Amino acid sequence: MARHEWFKRYIRQVHMDFHMPEFPVEAIRNFNAEEFVAHLVRGRINMVALFAKCHFGNSFYNTQAGHKHSGLPGDFLREAAEECRKNDIRTLAYYSLCCDIRVCRTHNHWRACDEQGDPIPTTGCWGPVCINTPYREELVLPQLEEVARDYPVDGFFIDIPLVAKCFCRYCRSKFQQMYGYELTPELPESERQAFLYNSTGRLLRELRALCERHNPELVILTNRSGRIDAPLTFRELNDCGVWESQPHSNYLSHSFACRTVRTYDYPTQVMSVRFYQGWGDLTLKPAAQMTTEFAAMIGNGAVASSGDQVNVDGTLQPAVYDMFARSFGFVKEREELLYGAETISHAALLAPVPRADYPAPNTTGPEMMGAHKALLESHVQFDILSSLDLDRLKHYRYVVLSGPCDFAPEVFPALREWVAGGGTLVACGTSLMSGENRFELEDVLGIEYIEPSVFSVSHFRPRPEVRGETDDLPLQCRGSSLKVVPRGAKVLADYIYPQIESTTEYAFRHPCAPPALHPSPYPFTTLNRFGEGRAVYIAGSIFKIYWETNHHWLRQFTGGLWNHLDPSPPYRAEIPGIVEGNLMRLADGDLLLNLIHYQVGHQGATQAIPSIERVHPLRDVTCSVKAPQAVKVVMEPEGVEIPFSQEGEYAVFTVPEIHYLGMARVVEK
Ligand SMILES: [Zn+2]
Repeated sequence: MARHEWFKRYIRQVHMDFHMPEFPVEAIRNFNAEEFVAHLVRGRINMVALFAKCHFGNSFYNTQAGHKHSGLPGDFLREAAEECRKNDIRTLAYYSLCCDIRVCRTHNHWRACDEQGDPIPTTGCWGPVCINTPYREELVLPQLEEVARDYPVDGFFIDIPLVAKCFCRYCRSKFQQMYGYELTPELPESERQAFLYNSTGRLLRELRALCERHNPELVILTNRSGRIDAPLTFRELNDCGVWESQPHSNYLSHSFACRTVRTYDYPTQVMSVRFYQGWGDLTLKPAAQMTTEFAAMIGNGAVASSGDQVNVDGTLQPAVYDMFARSFGFVKEREELLYGAETISHAALLAPVPRADYPAPNTTGPEMMGAHKALLESHVQFDILSSLDLDRLKHYRYVVLSGPCDFAPEVFPALREWVAGGGTLVACGTSLMSGENRFELEDVLGIEYIEPSVFSVSHFRPRPEVRGETDDLPLQCRGSSLKVVPRGAKVLADYIYPQIESTTEYAFRHPCAPPALHPSPYPFTTLNRFGEGRAVYIAGSIFKIYWETNHHWLRQFTGGLWNHLDPSPPYRAEIPGIVEGNLMRLADGDLLLNLIHYQVGHQGATQAIPSIERVHPLRDVTCSVKAPQAVKVVMEPEGVEIPFSQEGEYAVFTVPEIHYLGMARVVEK
């Protein structure tokens, strides 16, 4: 059994922040392990990260190698971990790696340095230190060994795995030895970042070897490791992943992360916080808001995870655990059902990851975010897949390329073969422009690329078969499009130029000139048959523009196009896109349709977080799940059977109520 297997069972997870300077006279004085853990038990938590060392460089255990916080009389890590173990709560030892204020003050030669070789200044709790200095051998590894050898924990949470930059003499010397040329500020950012990730990667291999000596069961989690933009070579050195995902102006961040991490070989924490505006802000979200976030996590196949913060005196705030009792209680009622469940693979939004050993810069840009939003709101069953995971392509029937074209060269032949074998590819905008005037897969798409259009705004008109819910008029796509000539592909939408390209003197009322009266000779959308499969090309970056404008017709066009391409999807839900759907296969073989309900409050100023203070359940939502042999439909976790009718391949039923998360189990013969 994999070392991480327990992580899928203990899914009510809290990250207990405890960065504590030494100046408060009352610091940690009132810590009491029994009371501390009693709160966790009351809050229904069954996995917690406990501090071994904080950003200030203070340790929270009886360390010989480092400095214990002067306010701590006992051994926080041991006492809390032992008490957790008594209560069947799993624990991780938290270690702040590349941030240590104390070390910055005591060991100047361990500090991370700027381009001139000068130590990067400390600010607030941030003190950048470099793990290529002897900091690693003289402090970090001895401390991690103390914990691995002597503490009743289940693994490590390594935080701040890298600094933003470092040009210290140790980095320069190591880089020169490893690569044979100089580390300079002129090197591409991605190469310098890759070096820093790889440096942490080597430390993780040392940590693994150290755990093997003392306690091989310990799992290793490093912050950022679960993110799609972290190098794959870095992710692979972890037993579980971490992706910090705090909702800011919208609540789709957890969905984006979960739809990605569920394609990995290991479980990943998609981590929120109980605070409104980030770590250390001791505000408290309402239970309705936290429950919505947990519903998005577990409904999308991840664990439920939130951050909390210990009070200065070492106690916890009881109200936080009243809230958690409700929100994690919600998770607890559903976790047995979800254990071992797998999301149905159907469509994949392909995230551009150019190479395994470098961070990927274009995986969470507006093209990807907009495609995620439009597909989710159109109730498409989809995952977000790294473009390096080509082995998994065979599990999907649909692939979407939203752009930009930042793919490894082997992606294009793999997609050609996959389409020829029966897959349906949907590419848009510049997602296949791999170089200056080089357009990939023209033969697969059945088009000939000419050039980018001179017009900065586009209009288009869908043909009737893909019109969907769009209004019958020229639809605006507020950005440039590409000119292509169909070479075998059928036209699904026409490209309409604006009347003019506006300038300061030569303009209509609005900077986006009105549409021309007649279509251009070029298509906006085409569909081509290639081998056993099909390929669609959309000439504008509709997903990026949708993300930036919320122009609803772009979502409607996505939906209309999708219905045309996929007339018998795995599920349908007759409900607006504010409800997210995800179809899973339970461990016992039944299907489970999860319906996640976001009931977000009005938006205030841009920087305000839309609140979810109270949630009123949705009622009577008609859904269909492709299940030709359905025998019954049961609402979970209540276990209440509801009526359904068999209409062709589909079981059709009405979900009586969705309160955060509706779960309809479809039992087949
Ligand atoms: Zn360095």
